[in-house]
Amino acid sequence: MSKNIAIIGSGFSALSASCYLASSGHNVTVFEKNSTIGGRCRQLKKEGFTFDIGPSWYWMPDIFNKFFADFNKKTSDYYQLDKLSPAYKIFFKDDQITIGDTLDKICLEFERIEKGSSVPLKKFINKAASNYDIAINKVVLKPGLSPFELVTPETITRIDQFFKTISSEVRKNFKNPKLISTLEFPVLFLGAKPNKTPSFYNFMNYADFGLGTWHPKGGMYEIIKAMSALAESLGVLIKTDSNVSKIDVSDKKATSIVVNNKTLAFDIILSGADYHHSETLLDQEHRQYSENYWSKKTFAPSSLLFYIGFDKKLNNVQHHNLFFDTDFENHAKEIYDNPAWPKDPLFYANFPSVTDKSMAPEGSETGFFLIPIAPGIEDTPQIREQYLDIILNRFEKLTKQDVKNNIIFNESFCVNDFIEQYNSYKGNAYGMANTLLQTAFLRPNLKSKKVNNLYFTGQLTVPGPGVPPALISGKLVAELINKHHNA
Ligand SMILES: Cc1cc2nc3c(=O)[nH]c(=O)nc-3n(C[C@H](O)[C@H](O)[C@H](O)COP(=O)(O)OP(=O)(O)OC[C@H]3O[C@@H](n4cnc5c(N)ncnc54)[C@H](O)[C@@H]3O)c2cc1C
Repeated sequence: MSKNIAIIGSGFSALSASCYLASSGHNVTVFEKNSTIGGRCRQLKKEGFTFDIGPSWYWMPDIFNKFFADFNKKTSDYYQLDKLSPAYKIFFKDDQITIGDTLDKICLEFERIEKGSSVPLKKFINKAASNYDIAINKVVLKPGLSPFELVTPETITRIDQFFKTISSEVRKNFKNPKLISTLEFPVLFLGAKPNKTPSFYNFMNYADFGLGTWHPKGGMYEIIKAMSALAESLGVLIKTDSNVSKIDVSDKKATSIVVNNKTLAFDIILSGADYHHSETLLDQEHRQYSENYWSKKTFAPSSLLFYIGFDKKLNNVQHHNLFFDTDFENHAKEIYDNPAWPKDPLFYANFPSVTDKSMAPEGSETGFFLIPIAPGIEDTPQIREQYLDIILNRFEKLTKQDVKNNIIFNESFCVNDFIEQYNSYKGNAYGMANTLLQTAFLRPNLKSKKVNNLYFTGQLTVPGPGVPPALISGKLVAELINKHHNA
């Protein structure tokens, strides 16, 4: 039975859901408040430089392959995907670790840092590989409706891994602080501290060392272009500059949405905007979660970002670079425990033009810097400038070069922009963290418990933060809609 479905937002989860719903025969219209689609994965083009505004790490290529395969397509029908070699580089105070594109290369690097460490590394990655298989092929594909979804023959034998943390598991096997930081890095994508993340999530280490780091030529926005082309080919109507300001409900049924002050009727409403914001579009009595509920949740960090055009090629950097030359524990406390601007922040720097010439004019470098910060903290132009100075000083010292005098332009993005541009709760950058108590059925629901034909998708619901989970979230919600509405 074909339904008229409105989707709010055009991030990965919304676009994913739109493709599945349209291919099931529904009439789907996507309403995006901004003038360009893609949500947190938009693109900035300036003076010949191309920046991905949000995500830059292409991990778990299998999930992208599966998404396109569901529509008899391949990623290569839309974009060129290259495996990065090396995958990335980590700067410490007194050394640098380069993560190669194969486990053998990474083992050699681990041996250089700590003799004998390649033996526990191989075991650790083997375990992570089997967790990846279970997580991706069994657990993550469940809609988060009941605790029993997590109970499979495989998870039962691994139940202890839900109660131990990734941090304790890594420390049991490795003693060198640099190797510990390297192995704790991947779970930061899940939004919480490694000592709050169940060790079962070490499947992220397999995503990192086993599956590798990839780059779509032209940047991450190529995926958005691919998904919107696919969606449109399936009949989805995508409308930009279309702010949704209200979801009307009558008799426990969402009847219409208000778009740019016009009321439009639909059979089913699906929101891919931040869950907290989506509920504020409803009158109070139709909301499921109170402000108190949201305020008690662990949110993934917000970010201070800089997009910089450099008038020269930079030395000693790779496509992805992590600056772990300061104390992670202190920075993590300033994100999660006592929210404040970090005294000595870790940061990430991305130079896609190192491997992809299309991203910058010849002889120039495209630079994207990211400092993770607590959501909801004060954001002023002065603070942003101060932090740019802090990280560029450290960057110059660690990479042994001057860059401050080579900046053509510099644009920043922070808490206020996340709120203003995406209606993000407290300006979070990548949603609600995946901790033990915020996993699967314990996350905000894909379906409203109060309004019968209202659904949600995206990084605040299941499975959680990140581009691959967003693709899966769109698929899960589409399946749920089809199940409930007999498609
Ligand atoms: C700086 C940064 C770096 C990241 N790095 C990575 C990475 O390297 N790899 C990775 O996998 N993930 C990364 N992530 C996470 C990833 O980008 C997100 O998890 C994912 O893009 C979220 O998609 P989504 O579908 O949940 O929603 P969003 O992308 O947030 O899309 C929601 C959309 O809804 C729209 N909207 C909101 N309110 C309304 C309204 N009232 N009416 C109409 N439209 C509305 C918004 O404008 C937005 O377009 C990063 C995120 C950020 C911010």
